[in-house]
Amino acid sequence: MSFNNYSRRIFLQNCMECSATFIGGLFLFSSCGSQQKEVDSKKEETAAKVADPCNDFTGVNAEELEKRKKLGYTGKSEVANKSCGNCGLYIAFTEPAAVQCGKCLLFKGPVHAEGHCLQYVAKT
Ligand code: SF4
Repeated sequence: MSFNNYSRRIFLQNCMECSATFIGGLFLFSSCGSQQKEVDSKKEETAAKVADPCNDFTGVNAEELEKRKKLGYTGKSEVANKSCGNCGLYIAFTEPAAVQCGKCLLFKGPVHAEGHCLQYVAKT
């Protein structure tokens, strides 16, 4: 009789140990997955910068990003015939020539030629 109680106790201990090992393994695998997602998102971000230099905000501080936000900058103008490319405050990048990207005199960072903001000034 006492042997049966002892066996049950050992059985329960084994079950607890197996459960702890299983749960530990789950935490380990889930943390590996989240690190992989982080690496993947950084790779995608880097690829986007390479593909479109207008999305590269390296070296642009939060204050400058806030300025463009307050001016209502958008990467795609919804106002006919009014876009950064024909704005008086736009400075086009010359290298590489194929890139439709430049700068604005009002804030730092890249600007899409087809972008727009509230301060648009027609070129004279
Ligand atoms: S002022 Fe506005 S519309 Fe003109 S270049 Fe700058 S962001 Fe574009």
